[in-house]
Amino acid sequence: MTAGLDRIGVLGGTFDPVHNGHLVLAQAARREFALDRVWLIPAAQPPHKLDEPVTPFAHRAAMLELALADQPALAVNRMEEQRPGPSYSVDTLRELRARLGPACALYFIIGSDAFVELASWKNFSDLFRYADFLVAERPDSAPGQLNNLINRLPGGFKYDSEHNRWTHPHGAHLYPLPVNAFLVSSTTIRRKIRAGEDISRLLPPPVAAYIRKHQLYR
Ligand code: ATP
Repeated sequence: MTAGLDRIGVLGGTFDPVHNGHLVLAQAARREFALDRVWLIPAAQPPHKLDEPVTPFAHRAAMLELALADQPALAVNRMEEQRPGPSYSVDTLRELRARLGPACALYFIIGSDAFVELASWKNFSDLFRYADFLVAERPDSAPGQLNNLINRLPGGFKYDSEHNRWTHPHGAHLYPLPVNAFLVSSTTIRRKIRAGEDISRLLPPPVAAYIRKHQLYR
């Protein structure tokens, strides 16, 4: 499955549903970091949504398949479906690193809204044993904003101005990823559907058709 894939990005999320913001983020990472493949990994049980209703995995994964059908470098990876219990990213990254071997360049892609919460994730500092991080920043974000966020994280990241990256004591690098992020979230889409508003510009047409066909988010 991974032959010829030396540089891999992973974008984890609930994808309830997948939208254009996710696609812009994955494409920007692929382009800027010359990735061979970006895997979008739907969480079977999102750890931060254990008390909320989440659309069944099969629907969320099917919508991702539709969204990525015309994107050869992006693919759905269903590995979290196999693991019982909450889908912690640290377990996913550990498993991927074991499978891919030490030579593979593995990048965990994350939006700045999720990055803000990172210190609360399970085994936070172990995340930096398995992958480098690409943190999406809006091009118009205030200078130093990411630096402030990183300085607030435990662990002692060191900034390297030559490469414009931070390094964790466990060895992982953290890079800013400028992204013209769509001002869209899955929450907005679910709310708009409930309110009967148009969502056609926020996600790929086959995903919108799937949502209509299966009457999701009503
Ligand atoms: P929800 O509104 O249900 O919380 P979401 O739209 O934030 O969902 P997730 O599936 O939770 O989507 O997000 C997966 C990843 O995609 C996270 O790292 C998040 O920061 C990033 N992301 C989500 N929306 C955007 C966007 N519009 N632009 C850039 N990154 C995004």
